[in-house]
Amino acid sequence: MSTLIFLLCIAVALGVLGRTLYRRFVVLTKVVNVPRFDEIPERIKAVFVYALGQKKFVSPDQPKHDKGAGWMHFFIFWGFSILAVQVIHMFGRGFFPGFTLPGLSIDLLGGPYGLLKDFIQIAVLVSISYAFYRWLVTHPKRLYGFAPAEDKLLGQSHGEALLILGFIATIMISGYVYDGGHLWAHEGADIEKERAWQPISSFVGKLFYDAGGPGLAETASNTGWWIHNLIILVFMNLLPISKHFHIITSMPNVFFKKLEPAGQLSKQDLETSLSFGTSYINQFTWKQVLDMYSCTECGRCSSHCPATISGKELAPRQLMINLRDYLYENEDAVMQAPELAADAQEPVTVGINIVGENLIHDDVLWACTSCRACEEACPVLIEYVDKIVDMRRHLVQEEARFPAELTRTFKAMETQGNPWGVDASSRGDWAEGLDIPTMAENPDAEYLYFVGCASSFDDRNKRTAQALVKVLKSAGVSFAILGSEEPCNGETARRIGNEYLFQSMAEMTVEVLNGYSVKKVITNCPHCFNTLRNDYPQFNGNYEVVHATELVDHLIQEGKLEFNVNGEQSITYHDSCYLGRYNDVLEAPRNILKSIPGVSLKEMERNGRFGMCCGAGGGRMWMEEDADKRVNLLRVDQALETNPDKVAVACPFCMTMIDDGLKARGKEEEELPALDIMEIVADAIK
Ligand code: SF4
Ligand code: SF4
Repeated sequence: MSTLIFLLCIAVALGVLGRTLYRRFVVLTKVVNVPRFDEIPERIKAVFVYALGQKKFVSPDQPKHDKGAGWMHFFIFWGFSILAVQVIHMFGRGFFPGFTLPGLSIDLLGGPYGLLKDFIQIAVLVSISYAFYRWLVTHPKRLYGFAPAEDKLLGQSHGEALLILGFIATIMISGYVYDGGHLWAHEGADIEKERAWQPISSFVGKLFYDAGGPGLAETASNTGWWIHNLIILVFMNLLPISKHFHIITSMPNVFFKKLEPAGQLSKQDLETSLSFGTSYINQFTWKQVLDMYSCTECGRCSSHCPATISGKELAPRQLMINLRDYLYENEDAVMQAPELAADAQEPVTVGINIVGENLIHDDVLWACTSCRACEEACPVLIEYVDKIVDMRRHLVQEEARFPAELTRTFKAMETQGNPWGVDASSRGDWAEGLDIPTMAENPDAEYLYFVGCASSFDDRNKRTAQALVKVLKSAGVSFAILGSEEPCNGETARRIGNEYLFQSMAEMTVEVLNGYSVKKVITNCPHCFNTLRNDYPQFNGNYEVVHATELVDHLIQEGKLEFNVNGEQSITYHDSCYLGRYNDVLEAPRNILKSIPGVSLKEMERNGRFGMCCGAGGGRMWMEEDADKRVNLLRVDQALETNPDKVAVACPFCMTMIDDGLKARGKEEEELPALDIMEIVADAIK
């Protein structure tokens, strides 16, 4: 009879679960397709590193405040994985008493497995206790939400999280009761061995045995069995309707991760697309929907987001939750959406336009600096920047709705070929008197130095270009510039969402570079560096692009640059997002600073891969920012905590933001300057 009841429970649970998963799967087939089935070995490797290895949770370079929760998750994940065998045993024994998987009898691997199981259950219980402690005692914002951007989350009941934690704890305890009761309800040589291999279960079972003999031990074991198995069945069905869906989807989400360079945005088809950008829920790609399914709501993304912590409207977690909840509300409509007809003039849309007042407010999208801190922090590799830029593309190209100040930026790029709007003919003026050949004069130069708009037109950043030239000449590097022929590469336009403008500028730039058969490019601007290196291959622009810090680090190692001793100085280095996080250039700037005699490098708490944005990326450089929500002030305060003599940067946008921030904090250049690493090197070479 009890077997029949158990069978019925399983049938109902699997039936309901199957239906929910089927619906979730159909949604994936109804949204936009993207190819993510290539490079299978690379994808499998990612699963080993990020899913099985839990890299984002236990990596030693993650911020200190994330480490405890990281290890907690590690033990829960591996605990559940190891206990999956025990779950199979307990379900199997509902039909075949004493059922054991092949190889796991007590005379083979059953003993060691029992020991491992016994201790991993303790590790899971300790981890769950820590999770309860965080939810009920310390109340971290990372769990409850960051005001004001996550006010909606803050206002929600968190009962589901506590219920799931309670379920997990009960599964562990009932597992001990089942095993322990079984060990003391019976006698025999094998049972003796099992007791020895499972000391904790045996201890629990003995308590029942001592209190009521083998009869009570048997009853406890049976009760533990029912509780354990029924909770597993309920738990399975809670997964797809809660944030714990990630238990099922996170591994596929890691497998289907973006393998193109992180700094490359998708190329929009401007010829045949029926719409530009994303503004309806069914216009996201299936991978973007899988991201929505996979969010654990852990809040790591928001806790690292410069927009969230500076008090703006954007919090990546809330953005993801809003999209996911809206998708679930409209699941039927997405499933029933018609196929796009071959001769369609309009795209198929489901529900309302979500960009704007209805769901994802414009200000949320414009607050993003595209710094990728959220993606770096996310344990399940959720991609944010692409989604935000896709929605910006809709705003800019479909609705011409963007912050008023960007009108001037776009116009300046269209008419003068630079976002500053300075007369294009003055682009090469910074190089006057420096005796630098142009590509027209020296087409055989080894490197093209692509100066970029900031170092060409902004007075403070011209000093960086001049310093780099001094360094390159000192090391005997063969290089030339384009001078007044140099176009703007369009990076700003692409990150803002003006793909049309970007593509026309990219095509123009590639034409100039390919016209000179350029092979190697040096840039001192990480935005130019990223775009030339990662975006331009989409436009037949294939170059070996190096950032100035990489080349200079190399020159120092080759002994081509020697330094004077200029006295002691402590320097803190601010990582550029587009250099460090996007392109892994983390060590070269530090190597350079460490190789200058007398320099002591002082790291800010947020540094390297987890460095905090200066606030200028993603086109934010050209947008107004409320005085009380300035990202650069937060970053400068972090720099000041190291009590440096100088703040080093390796990006002209960072230079502007850090320089402004220092001045706003009353630090004039004479007292505490922001300097590009190239200026520090140029000042130190013999
Ligand atoms: S890219 Fe940066 S600013 Fe944008 S949501 Fe992510 S962390 Fe926030
Ligand atoms: S997007 Fe990633 S980091 Fe952010 S809450 Fe979801 S799982 Fe956590």
